[in-house]
Amino acid sequence: MIVTRFAPSPTGYLHIGGLRTALYSYLYARKNGGKFLLRIEDTDLKRNSQEATIAIKEAFDWCNLDHDGEVTYQSKRFDVYKAFVQKLLDSGHAYKCYMSKSELDELRAQQEARKERPKYDNRYRDFTGTPPEGIDPVIRIKAPLDGEILIDDGIKGEVKFRVEDILDDFIIARSDGTPTYNFTVVVDDALMGVTHVIRGDDHLSNTPKQIVLYDALGFEKPKFFHVAMINGEDGKKLSKRHGATDVMEYKRMGYLPEALLNFLVRLGWSHGDDEIFSMEDMLKYFDPHDINKSSSTYNAQKLDWLNAHYIKTLPYDRLAKEMMEFGIDFKSIPKGEVLLNSLRERSKTLVEMSDSARVIINTPKVYDEKAYAKFINETSLKILAKFGEILNENLDAKGYEELTNKFLEANGIKLKDLAQALRVSLTGSSVSPSIFEVLEVLGSDEVKNRIKNIIKE
Ligand code: GLU
Repeated sequence: MIVTRFAPSPTGYLHIGGLRTALYSYLYARKNGGKFLLRIEDTDLKRNSQEATIAIKEAFDWCNLDHDGEVTYQSKRFDVYKAFVQKLLDSGHAYKCYMSKSELDELRAQQEARKERPKYDNRYRDFTGTPPEGIDPVIRIKAPLDGEILIDDGIKGEVKFRVEDILDDFIIARSDGTPTYNFTVVVDDALMGVTHVIRGDDHLSNTPKQIVLYDALGFEKPKFFHVAMINGEDGKKLSKRHGATDVMEYKRMGYLPEALLNFLVRLGWSHGDDEIFSMEDMLKYFDPHDINKSSSTYNAQKLDWLNAHYIKTLPYDRLAKEMMEFGIDFKSIPKGEVLLNSLRERSKTLVEMSDSARVIINTPKVYDEKAYAKFINETSLKILAKFGEILNENLDAKGYEELTNKFLEANGIKLKDLAQALRVSLTGSSVSPSIFEVLEVLGSDEVKNRIKNIIKE
């Protein structure tokens, strides 16, 4: 069975890069009837894992990504790690190192002076003497001394590391007994039965160390997929400087989870020239072996384009529900469906749509100065007054269009001479969806009221 996992270090919020690797892991497990596990890497006890976990779960919920089983918290597994550290000590794969801080500093300084890579010099590797007093030892792994470590990466292909370039007898447990990052990852991935590790390629240099640990512990190695980073449009690694990186910030900005997931799946993976991927499509076509080798570029317009697509195509009930979060209950508005369907054709985000909706729903208190100056004058006010007189029943958009056309013909007026002034009187500005849809949404009485208001100005 395919078992994947998402293993975030709790930083307070879920980064969109993290969501992308979570999505890839999720898709691969789900499409193969496997398991997708969530593990919180909160061994750094100074951080508040509770809040971070809530933030991650909140983002998973919003995106509808469900994980199997309970969440694993590394902070609750210190006993497990301790037992495995002991196992390695017992089997001779690890040893205690009593090097003091000042000795380590001295070694570092010498290596630096010689322009060498900082590296532990194995002085306690075969130590059998009496340990120095007053020093709590760290535990180091006996890493290979030479040769190569090979990673058969599912994305990058064969990646070779020379032991002398990358390894030394690295620490697996600190002097206070706490395990180090690479150690906990390996123990957990192995015990959780993870078969496929899909993660950012910023972890690629950790993988040789992890392979050493798999071998020492006698665990079967998973298949690794190291996903290239997402860059900003300036070619630098995506960060807050480029805009939002917190998944939930996208929600607040009015993006739909469908759009964000579709955007992220395509950042680094493709299937022909296809751009639109529903969850069903992703599950059908996604394969981590097809993830691009090179990094991808964040493209804000593409996300907007996808969001506009999902805003246009989502079922009315679902979209109306989403809009409640932006303070508009379309279902309680007479003609709410007409309004939403009209607005969704021209909105890139839900925020934009709620702003446009408010402009129509609320009677204008002020008029856009420029629009007023340009379109409201004695002649246009007369036309509006006359137009108000023929409104005595509620029609649909088509009905209002026919009525308007008759009115224009009978009075020898052009549509533009009525429409813009009407827009200003109804919405306060000269931009709005189809004027006939606005008429339908407001109904004749409200339209007459708003016309009266502007005449009184
Ligand atoms: N906890 C690591 C991080 O958040 C990920 C570890 C992994 O995926 O192996 O970067």
